[in-house]
Amino acid sequence: MTESNNPLLQEWTGPYGGVPAFDKMHLSDLKGAVEDGMEMHLQEIDIIANNTEAPSFENTIIAMEKAGKPLDRAFTYYGIWRSNMSSPELREISKELAPKISSYSSKISQNTKLFKRIKSVYEASQLKALGDEEQRIVKLIYSSFVMNGADLDAAKKKQYAKINQKLSSLYNDFSNNVLADEENYVVYLKKDQLNGLPESYIKSAAKTAEEKGHAGEYAITNTRSSMEPFLTYSDERNLREVVWSNYIKRGDNRDEHDNNKIIAEILKLRNERVHLLGFDNYATWRLQDRMAKNPKNAMDLMEKVWKASTARVTEEVADMQSVANKRGDKITIEPWDYRYYAEKVRKDKYDLDSDEVKQYLQLEKLREAMFFVAGELFDFEFKELPKGKVPVFQEDVRVWEVSYKSTTKVIGLWYLDPYARQGKRSGAWATTYRSFTSFEGDKIVLASNNSNFIKPAPGEVSLVSWSDAETFFHEFGHALHFLSANVKYPKSNSGVRDYTEFQSQLLERWLSTDKVINGFLVHQKTGKPMPASLVKKIKAASAFNQGFSTTEYLASALMDMKYHTVDPTNIDPVSFEKETLTALGMPKEIVMRHRSTQFGHVFSGEGYAAAYYGYLWADVLTSDAAEVFAEAPQGFYDKDVAYKLVKYLFAPRNAMDPAEAYRKFRGHDASIDALMKDRGFPVPKK
Ligand SMILES: [Zn+2]
Repeated sequence: MTESNNPLLQEWTGPYGGVPAFDKMHLSDLKGAVEDGMEMHLQEIDIIANNTEAPSFENTIIAMEKAGKPLDRAFTYYGIWRSNMSSPELREISKELAPKISSYSSKISQNTKLFKRIKSVYEASQLKALGDEEQRIVKLIYSSFVMNGADLDAAKKKQYAKINQKLSSLYNDFSNNVLADEENYVVYLKKDQLNGLPESYIKSAAKTAEEKGHAGEYAITNTRSSMEPFLTYSDERNLREVVWSNYIKRGDNRDEHDNNKIIAEILKLRNERVHLLGFDNYATWRLQDRMAKNPKNAMDLMEKVWKASTARVTEEVADMQSVANKRGDKITIEPWDYRYYAEKVRKDKYDLDSDEVKQYLQLEKLREAMFFVAGELFDFEFKELPKGKVPVFQEDVRVWEVSYKSTTKVIGLWYLDPYARQGKRSGAWATTYRSFTSFEGDKIVLASNNSNFIKPAPGEVSLVSWSDAETFFHEFGHALHFLSANVKYPKSNSGVRDYTEFQSQLLERWLSTDKVINGFLVHQKTGKPMPASLVKKIKAASAFNQGFSTTEYLASALMDMKYHTVDPTNIDPVSFEKETLTALGMPKEIVMRHRSTQFGHVFSGEGYAAAYYGYLWADVLTSDAAEVFAEAPQGFYDKDVAYKLVKYLFAPRNAMDPAEAYRKFRGHDASIDALMKDRGFPVPKK
């Protein structure tokens, strides 16, 4: 057996059943750790595959579920380096590792002896059922092996693995190119170019410029969190166009970081791979174990909503044009004007000033609000750990202990890495360093939330926008999903892509509940809760600009599905994108939320490939489930509904079929009506 002293592979020590040694991370250990970890796991797999005893659930499935722990630990650190503290050196290492990791996973998914044993356990389970969770994970494991080519003949298997290896390098190149374009295009402004921008934004832009060696100027970086407020507030139309254009051209600059060829190659390889398995296209293969089941169901839903959302865009553009005309701005609304004039219309129609709203959205108070909600619904209590109690990878990261309020039993830790910084990927995300399982004794969950809020200057509070506050709640919803898991086996923690956003999207709804507003949305200076009139305006405005946000999202989701249902031979992504959007009737004032060349969800891995529709699919469930709360006697804090929510929709993770779990919660399937109402679109006639 391979032995290794590599610190990144070592068993986690310290409190809470051991925690990651984030204080002992050295990039020089990473490559060796991942390589040795893979070797160790493959040796364990070999022992399982070559067992001379007859295959059983215990000696095959459980043995597999137990294997690979040192590698899991190495991957935890690797994930931190990739997402939270990337660097050019790290990107070099991941470039080297990507094909090796791919070949390692092929060695498992294509292990003939192993698959024979899994198949035999699966077939036996079809004759004599195991326990519910055991039965489900056998089926999940068996199907994922079949989906990944375990049943192919030797020659095809070889081809399959070769394709995957090529893909893994392409995914890596794709995301590195986007990151490079985010880092390389910074717009530096002079003092007289700041008209319209909020004070807080100017301050942090000055700080960023200083860090980049441009003291006295103001840096607008090429990321969403920097671009969006700039386009919303800047009065400088020419500069808006520059910032917008840099952003949407990421990966599409016809230089060494261009992603067009990479996309074409990815699509071709994906298509070849599913052909080996006898599927017509990637999307059909991908959706077989999803809630949507097939591309048609997903397309049908998207097209229904698309009609309503693009019709709404026409109204929104007309509203904005009339505001522009009234102001005497001699312009026609262009994509770089949308956010700017939408903000004017918002003020006009709803008298809602985003900056005024922000005064009530303090990051710290929002976090307290989330803890309050978790207490009411999940019986969770959060206590912050003193600095140094468990190691963190960056000084701004804070850690809380999570326990049950009623029993004081400790169930997990919650790590929060709140602020944007160089090397951290943009956006917000949630992850686990350790998930809950009980088959080897109850594990303490290590969940984390990561955001890119602008770090406030010393002595100032961090104020965020309404939509950033929603995202904060959203990611916390993922964390609650991790923390409330009640499953026996690791496999039960695997996600169903068009279902895993449901829990997090639902949690966003608690931001605008009365208890949160009155208790936590308090003015940064006066400490007074958000006035009822402002709340009313926010609620009235909640369907505002839904034409824009639904359309920019759907354009990406539809493109994703089109890419994966057409024959991709000789595809040129930029022209395909243009033609497809024209055929769909894409409004000219909007671009895709993620244009093809920067669509990391779909091209920097397979996580959301032919799956970006999943947000909408999950949102149908979200709106429908929110309606259950809204109609309950105690509303969003109704104990009975909360009990069912946790029991059926959070705790089982993937140990129960999602459609069945939803029916247990709701009594029947979800309908699209609540979603259309929430977005202010007409409810389709039956
Ligand atoms: Zn999410």
